[in-house]
Amino acid sequence: MNTVRHKRCYKSRVIEESVLYSCKEDFMKRICVFCGSSPGAKQDYLNAAALLGSLLARKGISLVYGGGSVGVMGHLAKACLNAGGDVIGIIPRRLKESGVAFSGLDKLYVVETMRERKAMMTEVSDGFIALPGGLGTIEEFIEVLTLAQLGMHTKPCGLLNVCGFFDKMIDFLNYATQQRFIDNIHFNMMLIDETPEGMLKKFEDYQAPQADKIAWVVKMSEGID
Ligand code: AMP
Repeated sequence: MNTVRHKRCYKSRVIEESVLYSCKEDFMKRICVFCGSSPGAKQDYLNAAALLGSLLARKGISLVYGGGSVGVMGHLAKACLNAGGDVIGIIPRRLKESGVAFSGLDKLYVVETMRERKAMMTEVSDGFIALPGGLGTIEEFIEVLTLAQLGMHTKPCGLLNVCGFFDKMIDFLNYATQQRFIDNIHFNMMLIDETPEGMLKKFEDYQAPQADKIAWVVKMSEGID
């Protein structure tokens, strides 16, 4: 299988901001984390968020996230800041005005729409991790994975499967793969690990597959009227 190393430098067309878009040669500068605005039902979710936040800080990787102060999101950001990390929040104006933005953030970027927020998160980040969360988390993660299968970026996308939280979603995506709606190669692009350390190791080793979704769809459609 042909692979390419994920790209390290990005220029944004969304918002010009030198602090965000400076290109460095080192491994990962910024990782975007999607996670619940609710704390969820288990303390383990919050613990995993705190562990990931402090690990990013220790490794000198900036955290990009939704800018919220509540739930798993809030725990993640607090842990990263407390460990001396760099946190970049990107929040739509409406959410900020509803009072859920993290007030102590130096780098809180306020955008007008959810779409603008996702575009900015995707553009400035070198990889994406989903922690346990709800519809927003799932939608954000599936979008970056969809962009990856279309070759629109080559950055790693990982599910931090705390206490097996994502097991059923992984099972479903596996079923969709067996039913030939997802190419095996694209299913396997989704990195899965139970620990933040394990996930970052997988990010380091990640080689994006050069597998054309459109070519695969055409091949699957051959002989079908
Ligand atoms: P959910 O998993 O439905 O709680 O949604 C969480 C995801 O959606 C996060 O990764 C955020 O990007 C976004 N989001 C949802 N609620 C908020 C909020 N109160 N503040 C900031 N971002 C939020």
